Amino acid sequence: METLVFASNNAHKLEEIRKILGNRFVIKSLKEIGCDADIPETGKTFEANALQKAEYVKEHYGLDCFADDSGLEVDALGSEPGIYSARYAKMHGRKVTPETRDDINMDVLIERLENLKPNLGTIAEARILSTAQFRTCIALIYKGETHYFNGIVKGNIIDQKRGSEGFGYDPIFVPEGYNETFAQLGSETKNGISHRARAVMKLAEFFSQQS
Ligand code: IMP
Repeated sequence: METLVFASNNAHKLEEIRKILGNRFVIKSLKEIGCDADIPETGKTFEANALQKAEYVKEHYGLDCFADDSGLEVDALGSEPGIYSARYAKMHGRKVTPETRDDINMDVLIERLENLKPNLGTIAEARILSTAQFRTCIALIYKGETHYFNGIVKGNIIDQKRGSEGFGYDPIFVPEGYNETFAQLGSETKNGISHRARAVMKLAEFFSQQS
């Protein structure tokens, strides 16, 4: 079987990828190829950041590779926080620890949206603050060529944190067609419709079309 590196050490993401591509490739994590570098992500777009990680592996290890970059794009904030999703609270001068980061990121987002005095109605008695979308971009370097795969899930940001599953902004994101947040819906439902799942399915489709 061919080897393909997924430029990540996130166990959850690796498991999801191996389920989908594991029959065709030996999928190796960064750790498994002996890479413990903190690969820089200095791009201005999801595409640039994903490509930066994949190129790093190709250059330093000579292996075909793919990498992902994701984030939340909130319409009322001109697609913020976008590529800064993980660092949003910090960018706004808030002190965070790895344990408090997700919670304070959501606080900052809710505060900023409340300031805009939105009037978009309610979902299950929570106020809607803005429409939004999660986006994942996967950059693949394969047989000397670069390919991109994008996945999007649209939804609404609400003013209350609901649910305990997932991570990041899941407790305040209600996907279109549902009345519960990603954190309430749980991983099985989320993995069927998420931005990441959609990008990964496109990647799998690409490989199924290769001879
Ligand atoms: P990453 O590129 O997948 O590491 O995502 C960067 C940041 O975007 C995360 O730290 C989260 O703040 C946010 N994010 C990405 N995907 C999700 C998701 O599925 N749910 C909630 N937040 C997410």
